[in-house]
Amino acid sequence: MNADVAYQQCINPDCGARFDCGFAAGGFKCPKCGELMDTQYNWDKVKLPKKLSEFGQRWANRNNPLDFSGVWRFRELLNFCDDEYKVTIGEGQTVLQQNDAVAKYADMKSGCLFLQYEGLNPSGSFKDNGMTAAFSHAKMIGAKSCVCASTGNTSASMALYAHSCGLKSTVFIGSGRIAFGKLSQAMDYGSQTIQIAGDFDDCMRQVQDVSTKLGLYLLNSLNPFRLEGQKTIMYRIIEQMGWEMPDWIVVPGGNLGNSSAFGKAFSELKQLGLIKRIPRMAIINAAGADTLTELVNNKKLVWDNGKVNQKIIGDYYADLTARNFSPHTCASAIEISRPVNLKKCLRAIDVCNGVVRAVTDEQIVDAKAVIGKFGLGCEPASAATIAGLKILRAEGEISSDERVACVLTGHALKDPNVTVNYHKEKQGEFSNPPIEAPNNLDEIIKLIS
Ligand SMILES: *Cc1c(COP(=O)(O)O)cnc(C)c1O
Ligand SMILES: [Zn+2]
Repeated sequence: MNADVAYQQCINPDCGARFDCGFAAGGFKCPKCGELMDTQYNWDKVKLPKKLSEFGQRWANRNNPLDFSGVWRFRELLNFCDDEYKVTIGEGQTVLQQNDAVAKYADMKSGCLFLQYEGLNPSGSFKDNGMTAAFSHAKMIGAKSCVCASTGNTSASMALYAHSCGLKSTVFIGSGRIAFGKLSQAMDYGSQTIQIAGDFDDCMRQVQDVSTKLGLYLLNSLNPFRLEGQKTIMYRIIEQMGWEMPDWIVVPGGNLGNSSAFGKAFSELKQLGLIKRIPRMAIINAAGADTLTELVNNKKLVWDNGKVNQKIIGDYYADLTARNFSPHTCASAIEISRPVNLKKCLRAIDVCNGVVRAVTDEQIVDAKAVIGKFGLGCEPASAATIAGLKILRAEGEISSDERVACVLTGHALKDPNVTVNYHKEKQGEFSNPPIEAPNNLDEIIKLIS
């Protein structure tokens, strides 16, 4: 254990309790005050490169699995465990595609829009960036069984990594709330799958109690080591932009782990003098699951140096409960109304001068079809980024000549139902339904346009 290098620390400034990295009880919540915890580093004990571009040189060394990994290539920036514990299955071989056709749809100038396609990960979503880090931690502390609540991709990714490092795994999913591609993965990769009569927020509450009671290793994004791995998505964007900063990062917001991790990545790089400027961040909710948008834009909830106004959050959640509210969106990966990383996300918004918007399901499926036609197929939650960018362009919040990187979080094949329904039922202007044809050559020829 890199005990002198890394530690965990409560994010509540009135508490600030520190624990060593061996601590994983209580679902990673601070045992003193119950707040979220960060993985932190004594940076003066880490041998860092002088320039970020030095990480890129590891590419030449790709026979070494840790240099090949798009996460561990940056290992000094997530230096919480020794190499012997590190788990990798080749995650992070993802691409940043500059895309002028999608740029046009979002009213951006040519050359200004970049799509970071995380669908290329081994389990088909960005979650693998986090799992490789969290499972390395799990191995380091000798965990034998793990558990997560999931809208789908967390379970797919956890199941894959658990299997490859010999841990037993159990996933909790909301009954009927999971896209089929993802459910098929959890089962195929050998996870015990428990369907709970409820939504994701119900599963999340249950999993925290179960992991505490049974001492199971928790792999939701409450796990601060997972977020350390997800920081590398930002490093790879900078790397692929020739070590230059984009002006904006656009990311979908669900449980808010990614946005939290990205904010932490940038504030550390700035603190370490490895970047000069922090990009702005736009976090995009689905309109049917827009807690962050409501709290930030309407209730004016802010980080306030960690003194977050808990009453605003409490009142908001009490109202959700009173209305028996359950979130609904076709973007099942972000169908979450009580995001566990809310406070870390507020901190990221503070660090990145961030903005938050919500987009409708209609805007999401149209954007998804455009990305599919001109770019890289993605699942609905990922397409919320382009739908959100379009709104921010219309408002003038983002200029057409700023350089924007949108994170396409998951692969198109994750959720075939949404795609097929959009096209077959002609739900939008980009619908491309199949044409019925008789089994007759002349008739078929007539139909080909
Ligand atoms: C998990 C997930 C999200 C939401 O990310 P958070 O870090 O929970 O905000 C978005 N898109 C996809 C495809 C996901 O799997
Ligand atoms: Zn605390």
